[in-house]
Amino acid sequence: MINKIIDGRLIDEVKQLFTKAKNIVIVAHVGPDGDALGSSLGLWHYFNIKKKKATVIYPSQYPEFIGWMSGAEKSLIYTLEKEKADKLIKECDLIVALDFNTPSRLDTLSESIVNSNVKKIMIDHHLYPDTDFANLIISHPKVASTSELIFRLLYRMEGLSVINKECAENLYTGMMTDTGGFTYNSNSQDIYVIISELLKKEIDKDEIYRKVFNTFSADRIRLQGYCIYEKMKIYPKYRTALITLNQQEKQKFNYKNGDAEGFVNIPLSIKDVVFSVFMREDSDKIKISLRSQGTFPSNQFANTVFNGGGHLNASGGESYTTLEEAVEKFEKALPLYEKELLK
Ligand code: 5GP
Ligand code: MN
Repeated sequence: MINKIIDGRLIDEVKQLFTKAKNIVIVAHVGPDGDALGSSLGLWHYFNIKKKKATVIYPSQYPEFIGWMSGAEKSLIYTLEKEKADKLIKECDLIVALDFNTPSRLDTLSESIVNSNVKKIMIDHHLYPDTDFANLIISHPKVASTSELIFRLLYRMEGLSVINKECAENLYTGMMTDTGGFTYNSNSQDIYVIISELLKKEIDKDEIYRKVFNTFSADRIRLQGYCIYEKMKIYPKYRTALITLNQQEKQKFNYKNGDAEGFVNIPLSIKDVVFSVFMREDSDKIKISLRSQGTFPSNQFANTVFNGGGHLNASGGESYTTLEEAVEKFEKALPLYEKELLK
């Protein structure tokens, strides 16, 4: 038995909106990850089964290592096909927003979505959903992935029959990537009952793991070695680690979108490191990823120091400064969190 955590009335309301809709736009967050793709493409397959017109629009390109996911090739990337996407948004009669809690996470796509007058449904697992954004919100911060929420929703609405193999593969991939292959945030019994249901669709979970985690380019592996050997700074006093990567270094290793994905987790495998931060210099900003172990609130740090947010153990932020200045800000903030870091 899977616990019924989504309110039954919400399920009924979503079902009504889904039934009525003929032309749906699904959006997920900028820099889409496995869960953004998993939840959106999983739901997209459901709409296909229901013979409804549906389009997935991402604010920016997804990384190559999840590009194989079924339906990804049919999605639109806003930065590449803005006009086509805007036309679709104008013509649609329902918007489903997945895996983010505030429209700013849509980046340049947010304006068209916010300005649309059609009904909006938000389904997400981040803390503090922006309640003004959507007409209907399914928000469960304790659930490990939005893909899991989509499974719960479809399963409660119509059972396993509306989940095909492609949908199951997408939902499984999102559940797997948002828990680091079920190594964190993954102690809920329900997760494994859901996986057992997805396996009934004959998904090959071992193959999915291999496709996501074991298909790196040689460049990426070399970049990873470089980051650990040359760039990892440890602050033993604060049980913290920092890795930075500038534009020049990215070029040297033929950096491609997503190549540094997961680097931030590596220092956490060091005994006594409870907080790990990774800073990447992009053309327009510094992107910051933060991870923690145990009770240290990485999201609070992300919020106060880098104007970001996220989950307790996994969060992010941005800095519109030089990389050096971002490091300086970070180092200045560490002593303020000393007590919590040593807990
Ligand atoms: P990642 O480090 O994988 O980019 O992001 C981890 C998590 O941090 C995301 O799932 C998201 O919840 C949050 N996050 C990442 N970047 C930002 C940001 O710029 N602003 C906010 N509010 N949250 C972010
Ligand atoms: Mn997610």
